[in-house]
Amino acid sequence: MPVIRNKNIEVLFSASTIARRNLELAKDIAERDYKDLLVISVLKGSFIFAADLIRAMHDAGISPEVEFIMISSYGAGKTSGEIKVLRDIDSDVRGRDILLIDDILESGKTLKFARDLMLERGARDVSIAVLLDKRMRRKSDIEPDFTGFDCPDVFVVGYGMDAGYAFRELPFVGVVRDEE
Ligand code: 5GP
Ligand code: MG
Repeated sequence: MPVIRNKNIEVLFSASTIARRNLELAKDIAERDYKDLLVISVLKGSFIFAADLIRAMHDAGISPEVEFIMISSYGAGKTSGEIKVLRDIDSDVRGRDILLIDDILESGKTLKFARDLMLERGARDVSIAVLLDKRMRRKSDIEPDFTGFDCPDVFVVGYGMDAGYAFRELPFVGVVRDEE
């Protein structure tokens, strides 16, 4: 088991497993007939997944524009139920096809908020790609169009996802186990 910051990290999804899955996802995405596609990476947790997925999409023949949005969730807005845009996209979404990319779909509040916001702004179509789906935690009426993996009900880190700002750099998705 890798040891990082004196903690054992159990690997759930290895770097090579994720890379293979990203290629499959990109092919699935390419089969949709998107027009004028705008990819929106939901920061911060999706930054590595989005970076890998858009390059896999390039290999699959898709040429999207790419934007970023930061939405308060988890730590900040989760318990209060209040969700806000902390950093908005610059692009106009009217009439466009949007692909939201996020790390994890859990309760679904974050992505439902983001999808509704883009539809309110006049997006033609909003679809969703997530690396991980914790479907047992769903509280909103929302399903991903593209899912990397079903995720067990544990707190995961790595591949962009943090625990207290740490572990984002890990090339795999893992779970923090006992101290070394
Ligand atoms: P929800 O779908 O409940 O609105 O929130 C999903 C967001 O919560 C994800 O985008 C992610 O930022 C965060 N999140 C959910 N589960 C985990 C987890 O196991 N680990 C980490 N680091 N973040 C999580
Ligand atoms: Mg997130």
